[in-house]
Amino acid sequence: MSGPFDVVVAGAGPAGIATALALHHVGATVALAGPSPVQTATVRPETRTAALLSSSVDFLKRLGVWESLLPDAAPLRAIRIVDASRSLLRSPDIVFEARELGLDAFGFNIANTALSTVLYDRARAVLPHLASEPIETVELGADHVTLTLEKGRQIACRLVAGADGRRSICRQAAGIETRDTHYEQSAIAASFRHSLPHRGVATELHREGGSVTSVPTPDDNLSSLVWVAGAENAKTLMALDEVVFAAELQDNFDQTLGVISDIGPRASFPISGLTAKQMAANRTALIGEAAHIMPPIGAQGLNLGLRDGAALADCVADALRHGRDPGGQHVLAQYSRARQLDVLSRTVGVDLLGRSLLTKLLPIQLARSAVLTGLNAFAPLRRLVMQAGLAPPSDLPRLMRPVHGAPA
Ligand SMILES: Cc1cc2nc3c(=O)[nH]c(=O)nc-3n(C[C@H](O)[C@H](O)[C@H](O)COP(=O)(O)OP(=O)(O)OC[C@H]3O[C@@H](n4cnc5c(N)ncnc54)[C@H](O)[C@@H]3O)c2cc1C
Repeated sequence: MSGPFDVVVAGAGPAGIATALALHHVGATVALAGPSPVQTATVRPETRTAALLSSSVDFLKRLGVWESLLPDAAPLRAIRIVDASRSLLRSPDIVFEARELGLDAFGFNIANTALSTVLYDRARAVLPHLASEPIETVELGADHVTLTLEKGRQIACRLVAGADGRRSICRQAAGIETRDTHYEQSAIAASFRHSLPHRGVATELHREGGSVTSVPTPDDNLSSLVWVAGAENAKTLMALDEVVFAAELQDNFDQTLGVISDIGPRASFPISGLTAKQMAANRTALIGEAAHIMPPIGAQGLNLGLRDGAALADCVADALRHGRDPGGQHVLAQYSRARQLDVLSRTVGVDLLGRSLLTKLLPIQLARSAVLTGLNAFAPLRRLVMQAGLAPPSDLPRLMRPVHGAPA
């Protein structure tokens, strides 16, 4: 038996590894358990990238990984939203520019593989205990938790940070129920080349049935793609050969990126929504997709997961400073309070935006069009929306507050 640790983080996805590093950073004793990113990537190719907002970037700087990520990070200087629907009430294009907020970039787009690899390398260097086997059972005791790994090894801790994804066994063991939403859609993630440079602009085309989004990569003529489509349509798109897929993409996309070619490996992610009814209970705090899953619109998912990790580090640091049990009721309640509003507002916002794109109801199309027209016309309103999209509604966790003087 290893431990007892203050915290065991279950799941070595990006949210889990960052959480383990954050907990270590604030002085907790931490173990990280779960298959490494390399082991996980063999199950399905990881073709996703994540647009990380500046608070997430500040978090990564504090965790000591930002410099290693810089070569893989593309600045997001502007976001263009195009109503590509056939609605009679087509909205005007709207461009959100970071410089309107006095920023150089809203954040950075980074390939998930690069992010996880750099985070895991750092975890290997600084964490005292890393186990690459999956957790098989979670036993909750009155004052500690025992986790049994695949090969029978056991780890004991005061608090479990359940970052073990959508089918989280930590969530189940803690008896936390979920609210699930089915969208009958899938998102295809890939990369593609284009003859014109992206100049740091992400473009989100809103079409009936879903959205098609291009996000800049560090190569000015390469973007990552998130194509949201009905589940059947997505299957058809996945089966197309590269040239036909590129032609389909070209048809859907407008001409701003020029000629599209060289589609990278594609992976399809079924879109679903999941919200845990509690963020924490029974010596367990949920992190990332174990707590909330939402459609990939507006780049919210991982940013939210990183905010979970940073907030948990605040709560555990406070408990340790006051000599309290890091898995006790006080910490669980503080963490739940800290995360509730942020998670709820993002989940509802993304759900409403997604549904407004699917609906054929005229009043909703009208409302969406009116909002976008208003945003286009009034710079102060646009700035307000940009600020709301960038920051969580409550205070930022301490590790996410702006870093001054660190590498940009
Ligand atoms: C197409 C697409 C585009 C996206 N774009 C963005 C974006 O631009 N910005 C953004 O912020 N978000 C984005 N997201 C969301 C983002 O990708 C996810 O939020 C993020 O990858 C989830 O990370 P996670 O660590 O919470 O979960 P996961 O990556 O699912 O990690 C869970 C981990 O738990 C492990 N695990 C499972 N069971 C066990 C067990 N029993 N024991 C131990 N370990 C276990 C798994 O092996 C895995 O490593 C996008 C999502 C999609 C589908």
